[in-house]
Amino acid sequence: MVDLTRRFDVLVIGGGNAALCAAISARRAGASVLVLEGAPKFYRGGNTRHTRNMRCAHDAATEILTGPYTEEEFWKDLLLVTGGQTDEELARFMIHESKDILNWIVEQGVRWQPSLGGTLSLGRTNSFFLGGGRAMLNALYRTAEELGVDILYDAEVIDLNIEHGMFLSAQLKQPVGGRTEVRASTLVAAAGGFEANIEWLKQYWGEAADNFLIRGTPYNRGAILKMLLAKGVQEIGDPTQCHAVAIDARAPKFDGGIITRHDSVVFGIVVNKHAERFYDEGEDIWPKRYAIWGRLVAAQPDQIAYIIFDSTVVTSFMPTLFPPIAGATIAELAGKLELDASALEKTITDFNAAVQPGTFDHTILDDCATQGITPAKTHWARKIETPPYLAYPVRPGITFTYLGTRVNKQSRMLMKDGKPSANMFAAGEIMAGNVLGKGYAAGIGMTIGSVFGRVAGREAAKNARN
Ligand SMILES: Cc1cc2nc3c(=O)[nH]c(=O)nc-3n(C[C@H](O)[C@H](O)[C@H](O)COP(=O)(O)OP(=O)(O)OC[C@H]3O[C@@H](n4cnc5c(N)ncnc54)[C@H](O)[C@@H]3O)c2cc1C
Repeated sequence: MVDLTRRFDVLVIGGGNAALCAAISARRAGASVLVLEGAPKFYRGGNTRHTRNMRCAHDAATEILTGPYTEEEFWKDLLLVTGGQTDEELARFMIHESKDILNWIVEQGVRWQPSLGGTLSLGRTNSFFLGGGRAMLNALYRTAEELGVDILYDAEVIDLNIEHGMFLSAQLKQPVGGRTEVRASTLVAAAGGFEANIEWLKQYWGEAADNFLIRGTPYNRGAILKMLLAKGVQEIGDPTQCHAVAIDARAPKFDGGIITRHDSVVFGIVVNKHAERFYDEGEDIWPKRYAIWGRLVAAQPDQIAYIIFDSTVVTSFMPTLFPPIAGATIAELAGKLELDASALEKTITDFNAAVQPGTFDHTILDDCATQGITPAKTHWARKIETPPYLAYPVRPGITFTYLGTRVNKQSRMLMKDGKPSANMFAAGEIMAGNVLGKGYAAGIGMTIGSVFGRVAGREAAKNARN
């Protein structure tokens, strides 16, 4: 039974990777810590439950990573995907700290495994959690409990008492027990983005947001973020920017997870509901480009698109939960997709005619390209000509949003007047926009949560003792 009448040193709101890293780090620094997870125990851990890997810099190959991935290379990758929209000081700090996180996370009970073959070409840059995100979370929860961190589930925070940039208390709502005021010397906000709040998404995306599917937890509704911004915390990031991938249109509205994502774009073409191509499917290697396809589909009529390929590539990518829709002819496939058959035939005929000879190699930016069509397919362009013809219908799958709270290198929130908050820290998705102005490279979400979670916990504990 957690004693809610006491005043804790550190209150952590959230129950995912960032929250647990913060809680463990604060506890190890000697603080009393309470974690409030809004979800029931079974669903604890937010989007972290769905993860598989984390991107960390390292100077030499390790037992599970094939070669060095230097800080400079990580930085260049981040610059590329964000188009420079990142806070350089914070990003370089995160990248530097990521080296140490590889070991620190193991000290908290998490186990790594070698990269899964044939999935995302991440064997050098990303470490995979043995057993996936849920196993990782279970290890973090177990460690937190053993260290004496108090944890409450079904514990939604519905209000924050903040005065002049200083956190005083939080209003907790529980199904049994009702409302309680929880007091703590410091706050770590690790309650995710607002991706599961369709009404909030609609403010920026309009009615199109009704057609978005949310890949992760329904509990990340952005309530804590909204309260913090309303109570004087400086905001960072463009509210329309998010991590969004193309996922199967047949996926559930929430929590479909990784098995609904399609990695087959580079092996075929993508058309909209008018059976027209709209973007270069072969722009760059998949880990650097998969996260643009959600936005691209979101910009298409009715937020629907179709990945079209033929039988020669079926085993070239990771299979998903849903089987492809097949047709013996293009016209038959078009009929099943409810697309105009002659329009789809023309798109594929034009595409095939534009494909130039080349040597196909999906592991590099190969020389298989089109000529004379717009948009071009600049790599991995091969004719679609061997039946059965196959398709996946896709919709925007929102992973997480980037609008957040501005922080400094101590993970301390900055107020609108530029001054650091007296006792409020943030980690994870809720502050991801400091590093990710736009774009994404696989595995950075967990790096942000682990690095800034660890720092936030440590700094919050220090703050509480002073
Ligand atoms: C399908 C999928 C696959 C992914 N794969 C990867 C991957 O392999 N690698 C990677 O780096 N990233 C991946 N991501 C992104 C990654 O999940 C996030 O970047 C990361 O988990 C964020 O951690 P977090 O702790 O900030 O948020 P979360 O793990 O989402 O935790 C937020 C927590 O806050 C709680 N909460 C929300 N509101 C309240 C409230 N009012 N009161 C109390 N609690 C509240 C939620 O219940 C939840 O527990 C993936 C995401 C998805 C959806």
